[in-house]
Amino acid sequence: MLHDETRGGDDRSPDAMAEPRWHALDVPAAAARLRTSSAGLSNDEAARRLAHDGPNALPQPPARSIAAIVLSQLQSPLIYLLLAAAAVSFLLGEYDDAGFIFLVLTINTAVGATQEWRAEANTAALRSAIATVARVLRNGAVKRLDSRQLVPGDVVLLEGGDRIPADLRILEANEVQADESSLTGESLPVDKAAGEALPADTPLAERLTMLHAGSTLQRGRARALVVATGSRTELGAIAGALRVPAAKPPLTRRLDRFARMLGFVSLALVAAVIALQPGLGHTLSETIFVAIALAVAIIPEGLPVAVTIALSIATRRMALRNVIVRHLPAVEGLGACTVVATDKTGTLTMNQLTAKRLWLPQHGFVDVDGAGFETRARLHQDGVTLSETAHGAARALARSAALCNDADFDPEGGAEGRSGDAVDLAFLVLAVKTGLDTGLLRKTARRIADRPFSAERKYAASLHDHGDGHVLHIKGSAEVVLPLCEGVDGDHVLRLADEMASHGYRVLAVAARIVDRTDDRGVRPDLDGDLDRLTLLGLVGFIDPLRPEAKQAVADCRRAGVSVKMITGDHAATALAIARELGIADRPEEVVTGREVAAAESGSGARIATASVFARVEPAHKVRIVEALKQAGHVVAMTGDGVNDAPALHRADLGVAMGRDGTDAARDAADLVLADDNFASIVAGIEEGRAAYANIRKVIYLLIATGTAEALIFLLALAAGLPIPLTAVQLLWLNLVTNGVQDVALAAEGSEKGLLDKPPRPPKEPVFDRLMIRETLLSGATMGLVCTAAFAWMIGQGLSEAAARNTLLFLMVAFMNVHVFNCRSETQSTFRIPLSANWPLIAAVAGAQAVHVGAAFTPGLRDVLGLAPLPLSEWLLLVPLALTVLATVEIDKWIRRATKSAARSNAAGGTPGDGGRL
Ligand code: ADP
Ligand code: MG
Repeated sequence: MLHDETRGGDDRSPDAMAEPRWHALDVPAAAARLRTSSAGLSNDEAARRLAHDGPNALPQPPARSIAAIVLSQLQSPLIYLLLAAAAVSFLLGEYDDAGFIFLVLTINTAVGATQEWRAEANTAALRSAIATVARVLRNGAVKRLDSRQLVPGDVVLLEGGDRIPADLRILEANEVQADESSLTGESLPVDKAAGEALPADTPLAERLTMLHAGSTLQRGRARALVVATGSRTELGAIAGALRVPAAKPPLTRRLDRFARMLGFVSLALVAAVIALQPGLGHTLSETIFVAIALAVAIIPEGLPVAVTIALSIATRRMALRNVIVRHLPAVEGLGACTVVATDKTGTLTMNQLTAKRLWLPQHGFVDVDGAGFETRARLHQDGVTLSETAHGAARALARSAALCNDADFDPEGGAEGRSGDAVDLAFLVLAVKTGLDTGLLRKTARRIADRPFSAERKYAASLHDHGDGHVLHIKGSAEVVLPLCEGVDGDHVLRLADEMASHGYRVLAVAARIVDRTDDRGVRPDLDGDLDRLTLLGLVGFIDPLRPEAKQAVADCRRAGVSVKMITGDHAATALAIARELGIADRPEEVVTGREVAAAESGSGARIATASVFARVEPAHKVRIVEALKQAGHVVAMTGDGVNDAPALHRADLGVAMGRDGTDAARDAADLVLADDNFASIVAGIEEGRAAYANIRKVIYLLIATGTAEALIFLLALAAGLPIPLTAVQLLWLNLVTNGVQDVALAAEGSEKGLLDKPPRPPKEPVFDRLMIRETLLSGATMGLVCTAAFAWMIGQGLSEAAARNTLLFLMVAFMNVHVFNCRSETQSTFRIPLSANWPLIAAVAGAQAVHVGAAFTPGLRDVLGLAPLPLSEWLLLVPLALTVLATVEIDKWIRRATKSAARSNAAGGTPGDGGRL
């Protein structure tokens, strides 16, 4: 690898010595070395440096090389067996057979490797679709850039939840903590600050003036200087050591184990056949070959590749529906998910808040016109224009809220001109409506200290120097702000706030206080001492429109047997009003507050498991909610966007992060990312997940059923004293070549209709459930019996063994062609699934026939395979025989559908049944 892993962090190579130890320089010295200033670089200079230093990215872990992928195809017990067989045939002088085995192995490896390579390229492409965006000063203005474009000398702005994009020297920091666990192993967040030079030998974990690529800003805000990018970062130095191989999805592992078990079964069979056969008068080489052929028949060799493909196709389909899969297992998990616990704000609602209603202590309720970012709207009381004093009071409120505010809003700037939190933006819009110039306001009232909003604190506060004095401004939830105010009847105002909340308004209180600061010694003032005796300026009620698709998506979930729980930091009354609109909850008893969640003893999770709405929730409560739901036996999908949601996302069976408004920290912890933050996308994901699982079952059905048929043919023929029905090379041909062409196409089946009309499959349900066993035995027996009977009849008619085998082989290929159509649905009649839904499948069926017929005409190959062209008239005779398996399976599907609907109508009369699952 690139880096010697045994080397310690401080023992640097001579090359790296040329780089200064940035923590040992003070800021001016560091800036001088980087030929930059606190205003950052110009666009031109940045472009120059980018060309010189290369992009800010670690050399990608070399994608598995083609050679590695090819080699991995060869690592299976089946291949070992075949290689052994080839060796034996070679030693026995059977060069044709040995050559054929090599040919089959080559085809099999080539097909498997191509598919796997494509699947991998697909996943890699998806992974890189989630880029980190950095806010950078370029030409003196803040720009949002892909962090790969950062260069040394850039100045970046960071806030809580951001991934640290490069190694940085802090210029300015406010309450900053970083999570450096991935670099230093320290699991607690570390305080960081701007500061003087540190001793050169300060260990990485103690460089408190530095932020390092690979960690996340846990909280606070910082402005920092990029000192090293890409592989020159500390992360780059240890990246080789950090690389962990991606775990295989549980489904794949379970299937691997199953394949291995079948491998042992077949080995035992091989041994048994070898022990018994000489007694029946066959030669040793023949015996070994039959034994190996049986093993090939039993092991579903196409399965691993088909599973990988099914999962990879599902990730691509999900991406088209705005769900980006970060870990393949999530695809399978989504299909089984029984509960979705989703954020309200931004996921069910648009997170486009508009202040619609104010309450001013001296003037009562005021209505605000205009929606969205429209600023030419007026304030009025029941249609009557506000009095001068009332307007002044509204403006004072808006001024405070515009100052303790981190958003940017340019009324003329369109979408480009706004950024920041939705609440903050809505306050700025309100300020403009009351006639304030927010840009000017911020310039005249310099911010000297602040406490940013956090979901735990539920308020934001900041201290400003207005020239003639210092004023503290605060906005936040009414319950938090009102107790800090004096001179108002807090209970009365709280009741007003509740009343507004019950109409669906998100209600915030705004307050302020003049602070006399005689002790200003240049240190950052601590806000704590001033957070009381505030003057209440009023309440503001915001409307956050529902996402148009949300209501339908909630209904879809319900139909699919997935319950939806809404989680919000909002007031219980606001939450319930919105839950009612969405059809998530109806009664107040269905609402549980975060405080109740925290207070509930670990035993009393039942209340949590049955509630539908969680209000006033803090991120820490989400972990409890996930735990309680999991304990109740649910497979839980939980959404999150904030940095503190990461533990809950980790703990959930499926962590779902927001791609647009979410933090990097949440995305890193999630299994899935919603590109559009939209709840409806989760429902799409559930559908695709179920489809992927169903497709994997279809492939298994096809492979195991044909294996069963082949084994049965052999057993019956041996028992009946018939000649060996198919030679080993013929069996290899069937399983690896003709069927190998078909099974992959099944993995690409579209989702069947009605996938969302069924309850989720029980989380512990094995793939080989009763239904699968029934289907396999039935279809396997049909094909096996018909084939043996045909073979016996042909031998009885005096056909030569070779001619009978040839016809039998054609029959088997026809059977497989037909059975693929059975496998397209486990419940529906195949006649109800349009052919157009999967053209590749049709092509694969035709392809399998073509390959087979083609082989019969290919000199050399046809001799090895014992194949001869079949007259069309005879081939046509095979068609009705092959259709028997279609008929049996159709009849079985019909019976199952009939009993199921009978059971359902019975259940409808009596107690509610289990949904009538088979
Ligand atoms: P949600 O989970 O629904 O997004 P949050 O945790 O973001 O809720 O917000 C919880 C509460 O904190 C809100 O109901 C509101 O009272 C308050 N709040 C939200 N955003 C801000 C903000 N930017 N400044 C001050 N207070 C806020
Ligand atoms: Mg929020």
